[in-house]
Amino acid sequence: GWTPAPRSVVVTGAASGIGRATAELFAERGVGVVAVDHDEWSLKEIARLDRVVPLVGDVSTEAANRKAVALAVEEFGGLDAVVLNAGIGGTRPFEAPGAVEAAERILSVNLRGPVLGIRAAAPVLREGGGGSIVVTASVAGLRADPGNWAYNASKGAVINLVRAAAIDYAVQGIRVNALAPGLTWTRINEGVRQNPAFAAEIERRIPLQRFGEPREQAEVVWFLTSPAASYVTGTTLVADGGLDAS
Ligand code: NAD
Repeated sequence: GWTPAPRSVVVTGAASGIGRATAELFAERGVGVVAVDHDEWSLKEIARLDRVVPLVGDVSTEAANRKAVALAVEEFGGLDAVVLNAGIGGTRPFEAPGAVEAAERILSVNLRGPVLGIRAAAPVLREGGGGSIVVTASVAGLRADPGNWAYNASKGAVINLVRAAAIDYAVQGIRVNALAPGLTWTRINEGVRQNPAFAAEIERRIPLQRFGEPREQAEVVWFLTSPAASYVTGTTLVADGGLDAS
């Protein structure tokens, strides 16, 4: 059926970048936001906004995911959507010391995090008659970048996790989709921003000739959680300036 716009949403990785822009956009549009991040200091800034409730927590733990969902119900009287966005890089070359441990950390945030998020949110969404789950994947989950195998693997896994969850939860009225951002101006690409010549070289390879802004990703999340996307589930929406098409 035609569900109303969300009243409340949980956004993870909400202290910075795409998560922060998403939390801001939802709050501006009247949606209550539980903003989850393990970076307590950065979370303070977003917590100043009306309708934003901060929660310091690590998404790779079951406790943080359960707390986030419970807090949304407590503060806003229900939960309509979750945006499982927290993610990290840090891949080391295959044969480098510590490469497996680094990969395990990446998988625990980028894959285990969304698994725990889905498990925590689904019963509450179901109770409210349905809802929407959005997981931030990456174009790096659709094709591989050199030297980035662990991140590539985690994002590829998330894209298929979303398909699987969409199938299992469809009968409960819960839609599950992935956002696949391309290169976006966040802390992750801070190093590139410091090097204008390198940035320009990358931008020439992007059909739209520029990096995306976090707000442009947030708008895609908004669409995926909105009634306008009522027939969209199990899909990956690519927002990459044409990078993956070229
Ligand atoms: P960012 O570093 O600006 O923001 C990520 C946030 O997640 C940070 O505030 C960080 O503290 C938080 N976080 C990390 N691990 C966490 C944990 N275990 N528990 C709770 N919070 C945690 O980066 P971003 O670019 O906004 O990244 C958001 C998502 O977008 C990630 O999943 C990333 O992989 C994905 N992505 C980013 C780009 C890009 O170009 N920026 C491209 C494709 C995909």
